[in-house]
Amino acid sequence: MITLAIQKKGRLASASMELLNDCGIHLHNTGSDKLKTAAVNFPVELLFLRDDDIPRYVEDGIADIGIVGDNVVLESGAGIERILPLGFGKCRMSLALPKYVDYNGIHDLDGKRIATSYDHILKKFLKAKGIRAEIHKISGSVEITPGIDMADAIFDIVSTGSTLISNGLKEVETILESEASVYAHRELSDEKKATINDLCFRIQSVNTAKDHKYILLNVPNEKLETVCRILPGMKSPTIMPLGEAGWSSVHSVIQEDRFWELIQQLKEAGAESLLVTDIEKMIL
Ligand code: ATP
Ligand code: ZN
Repeated sequence: MITLAIQKKGRLASASMELLNDCGIHLHNTGSDKLKTAAVNFPVELLFLRDDDIPRYVEDGIADIGIVGDNVVLESGAGIERILPLGFGKCRMSLALPKYVDYNGIHDLDGKRIATSYDHILKKFLKAKGIRAEIHKISGSVEITPGIDMADAIFDIVSTGSTLISNGLKEVETILESEASVYAHRELSDEKKATINDLCFRIQSVNTAKDHKYILLNVPNEKLETVCRILPGMKSPTIMPLGEAGWSSVHSVIQEDRFWELIQQLKEAGAESLLVTDIEKMIL
């Protein structure tokens, strides 16, 4: 049995629960105020926590693994191991200045006041760059501090950048890219390691499937070679003759992020009746 810590409420909470569900892990009925619950069909117990507490729980071994943002783990300084990035909760941590202030490089921050909730990450970064600045740690609404003359710059989480723009700020340096990842306690029994491997295998199958589409298309035989060259596939595409002479059906798997580009190329190469479907699980 392993203990997995996930965020109780917030940006990572529903994506974490959905991921477990996609992995075929079903939970005992969870009331909204529950701190703990066990799975019905997998040896895992869930702990619902504030995301800031997860690194410490995993470091202390109260939880064996946790799903938490890389930024939160770095800020905590916890000695835990990142075992699998998950592809959701993506954001970056950046320095931003009022938009009318000239910026010529990181040394412009020398002697300035920087407001942040992430003082450890910022301190480490400034030290590495040899910059002396005054760090003002505040717990929220960092983006309003330059407007009320509490700070000259901020260091904060950015995802789309619209919060910065609406507060009259511009992003000048990205210090860190972050996403939700699975982190593990440093010393685990072999039995726990095996259960965690099993869970990570399921997660990878689900996530790889999400990044791919299954595609079927009809091609006149004389254009088969051109079409097959466009399709990357897992190995090579499956080709089957159609009822109509001179035509074949081609089946393959393509990456989601290349989808539109490939579809266009396939049409131009003579493919017809394209059918695209989601893949539920994919094991490479
Ligand atoms: P908690 O109550 O659990 O402490 P929180 O308010 O600290 O929650 P959330 O706002 O739910 O945290 O964010 C959780 C994580 O989501 C962040 O630490 C970060 O890794 C990620 N994230 C992704 N995009 C954003 C964003 N635009 N703003 C804040 N966090 C983001
Ligand atoms: Zn938090």
